[in-house]
Amino acid sequence: MTNSVSQGNRKATLAIHKLTSCSGCQAVILNLGEDLLTLLEQVEILHFVEGGIYQPDAKVDIALVEGSVSTPDDQIRLNAIREHCQLLIAVGACACSGGVQALRNVKQSDDWAASVYADKRYIDSLSRSHAIADCTKVDFELWGCPISGRQILAALSMLLRGVSPISPTEKLCQE
Ligand code: SF4
Repeated sequence: MTNSVSQGNRKATLAIHKLTSCSGCQAVILNLGEDLLTLLEQVEILHFVEGGIYQPDAKVDIALVEGSVSTPDDQIRLNAIREHCQLLIAVGACACSGGVQALRNVKQSDDWAASVYADKRYIDSLSRSHAIADCTKVDFELWGCPISGRQILAALSMLLRGVSPISPTEKLCQE
């Protein structure tokens, strides 16, 4: 697998997925306005529920993933997303660090749930909230809560020009 997007003469394909999150980072993408129209000249979006496009298992060049891994279903879906994409980009603080949901990590999650819900039978969550990179290979991270439109446009622009992303574990400056 290559580390950059190579699509020849066809448009690059893109999927925008959501795990546990407030959807605010997806809203930033929806609010790109004219820049979104310009982006659509270069990419074909195959999955973006907030944008009314639903093909969760489509194979794509780039998958943008918003949200943390906070439920068993998040982990199952993240595994499928990873299988179906060439590059996986974690989008926003939830995806990069666990986000607000990770507050549960400082205490026993059962105690938090019991303080809010009298009946916990219908709550299906992991005891900890995880950043995506804790659970699968991530090619690039975009930090922010929410991310900015400039971040997303700059990252996609670079990837579409064939620039390989820097691994989140690599440093630009050597100490
Ligand atoms: Fe919402 Fe912030 Fe998480 Fe984005 S990073 S989904 S804006 S809570």
